[in-house]
Amino acid sequence: MAYHSGRSVFNNIMTEEKGDDFFSNPQVLDQYGLLQEIGLFKYIDSYKKEIRKYQNLLKGATDIFNSTTVDDIMDATVLQISDQFLPAFIVFLWRPFQNKKEVVFKVYKNYKMIDLSSMHIDSLEPFEVFFREYPKPINFDLLAFQMGDKRTTDSLEKIHPELVVPIFGHSSLYGLILVGPKILYNEYTHDELIYLGQLMGFVSQAIQNHLYYEHSVRDVKTGLFNHGFFMSRLNEELARTKRANVAASIIVVDVDKFKNFNDTYGHLAGDRVLEYIALAIKSNIRLEDIPSRFGGEEFTVLLPDTGREMAWTVAERLRIAIASMHVPWEVPLPQVTISLGIITFDDCTFLPAEEVIKRADQALYLSKERGRNRSTFWGAGLLFKTEAYLREKHAQTAKIIAEK
Ligand code: GH3
Ligand code: MG
Ligand code: MG
Repeated sequence: MAYHSGRSVFNNIMTEEKGDDFFSNPQVLDQYGLLQEIGLFKYIDSYKKEIRKYQNLLKGATDIFNSTTVDDIMDATVLQISDQFLPAFIVFLWRPFQNKKEVVFKVYKNYKMIDLSSMHIDSLEPFEVFFREYPKPINFDLLAFQMGDKRTTDSLEKIHPELVVPIFGHSSLYGLILVGPKILYNEYTHDELIYLGQLMGFVSQAIQNHLYYEHSVRDVKTGLFNHGFFMSRLNEELARTKRANVAASIIVVDVDKFKNFNDTYGHLAGDRVLEYIALAIKSNIRLEDIPSRFGGEEFTVLLPDTGREMAWTVAERLRIAIASMHVPWEVPLPQVTISLGIITFDDCTFLPAEEVIKRADQALYLSKERGRNRSTFWGAGLLFKTEAYLREKHAQTAKIIAEK
């Protein structure tokens, strides 16, 4: 009997590792009985299992690291956990930004997203205190017992997870994963808890990387892309229009008389207006467009695969949306307007990105000169007019400075 089961382990190993020199070695075959008796094959089998486990973990880590948004990281993690354990459900609980208190849920039941709006947790802080001491996956009942504070764990009681897994950022608890009981009702083993802990190390790192990346490409005040990212995307788009033989456009936006606005209503009111302008821009363009806060009160939008007419339509849509926008503040604020400059480029445009921006700026200056709250398309002949406008503006500024 013992011989039989040993043989099956041996066969197992042999079929998986065809051509393995060790197992086809005549001396090993000669000593088969002895090797089996001292448990070598079982030993090898357990190591093979261990290797398979790490291969799985590596594959999971790769999928998680290849995800570029927090949502994708969560989806990849759910796939990985569900492949391993078949839990009845998985819930992600996290704080979208570490400085915000709000806690958000994402629920997967049988690996499809479901709504769990009845569940409510105000804060992750009590969990943070606990998991700082014990930064590992833990059985929910044990957690509830150890934490003592019924109010916090009661909110999770409704769904009654089997495991609670912490996800740590560098300085704080980023979120929790609640894992349901296994569909087949067997318990989670100690090894499985260790595996989950290791997987969470990768999830934490992937989320941190994502946050760092977001910080490096976004403007903090408005959440739009920053100047650097916009310029690199513009360069890519200039190259792509040539390769793919398509047109693309950019729109530059400058808030009208914003200095006066700040002087009258204060810088904080001005900041609020900039945030609302950013929202209006975002909600009036496509997902694939690239909106940026180019600097101060200037914004740009890159519109891939967009010709002149469409670019004009988008610019006017932005202008009208902003001119009719209501910005709530301590005191009623007057309407703000923007001026816009537009340029379209295609496979025949052989200009560096800086020159494309400069031309769009020239069109913008003309919108200002024509009375503001309007859009202007860049075209030949604009340069002369723009130079005249700039000369005039510089003369005015010089005069104001001289008078001060
Ligand atoms: P124009 O119509 O010619 O653009 O007039 P303007 O007053 O907007 O132009 P100017 O360039 O003279 O002034 C831009 C103003 O934008 C100056 C500055 O106070 C304001 N501004 C730039 N960045 C910010 C910001 O982050 N927050 C606030 N509140 N104001 C800003
Ligand atoms: Mg400006
Ligand atoms: Mg301005």
